[in-house]
Amino acid sequence: MSKCLVTGGAGFIGSHLTEHLLSLGHEVCVLDNLSTGRPENLAHLAGHSRLTIRTGSITDPVLLADAVRDIHVIYHLAAAVGVKLVADDPVRTIETNIYPTETLLRLAVQSKCRFYLASTSEVYGKNPRERWTEDEDLVFGATSHPRWAYGCSKAIDEFLALAYHRKFGLEVVIGRFFNVVGPRQVGHYGMVVPRFVDQALAGEPLIVYDDGGQTRCFAHVREVVQTVVRLMDLPIAHGQVFNIGSDQPVTIRQLAEEVIRRTGAKSAIECVPYGAVYGADFEDVRRRVPDLSRLEQTLGTKPTLSLGTILDDVIAWKRDCLRVERRD
Ligand code: UDP
Repeated sequence: MSKCLVTGGAGFIGSHLTEHLLSLGHEVCVLDNLSTGRPENLAHLAGHSRLTIRTGSITDPVLLADAVRDIHVIYHLAAAVGVKLVADDPVRTIETNIYPTETLLRLAVQSKCRFYLASTSEVYGKNPRERWTEDEDLVFGATSHPRWAYGCSKAIDEFLALAYHRKFGLEVVIGRFFNVVGPRQVGHYGMVVPRFVDQALAGEPLIVYDDGGQTRCFAHVREVVQTVVRLMDLPIAHGQVFNIGSDQPVTIRQLAEEVIRRTGAKSAIECVPYGAVYGADFEDVRRRVPDLSRLEQTLGTKPTLSLGTILDDVIAWKRDCLRVERRD
């Protein structure tokens, strides 16, 4: 069994990863500054004998050095995430997403840790191709558009991680997450699924940006964290980049219709221009579909849960939360 450090372990994906690692018998240390992470994400694991939770920032190099002591595997998920947050505060995005990654990579080499780098489909930028393979070109917009700061910051992290692999033999896996959704994801930072489900359960209109013809593939967080851990355990995966997600595209309008259908809500769908939400210089990615061949060839599997199953899970979780709120 390994000792794992999960940065961002109180976040949406990090908390599911923590839970999965504990279920496999590993020891887990979570490091999270609770900026977007939430203590309630780990509340059900409180007191677990193999879990330690430290509240602190990855921007503190002394804390990082201490957190890495005796660790075998680092899962680096802490980052400024969410299109809205990132567009609102590009300085924080760059500071949080670049310097601490380099510090952690250096510590991982010194301590001979394996390293998982959580990257993102945002690194492809607005590449116009139908499906993106990992070797695709990265196509970012102008630096005057803050949205691209996120993808660029993660692309630099990838360059650093691959360089540490080549130069020092660091056993690193880079996973590019594509629209991961599921219970515990909140809509404050722009994520569409929890926003639509909240709106539907409140009987409010579902707010679709632009014409709703933009396409995404949504993957269940449970399958995603299982994929991550399996990749880390496979030596042939080390030094490689993987798309991780679903490859079944849906338009945002179809997503809204499906949420309405599955909640039984009477909500309408309202389209609003991007400018009204993110400011005049916002650019969206029209289509985002991963090619999962590399993942499938390496693991023999890929995430397959249907959108319907995923939405039912999110809706059930949200209904539970509402029941608890009403009781309190
Ligand atoms: N979106 C929307 N309504 C919302 C939030 C998002 O129509 O309340 C759209 C957004 O413009 C994007 C897609 O849904 O085209 C997915 O957005 P999200 O922020 O979840 O992830 P992204 O793929 O943009 O990182």
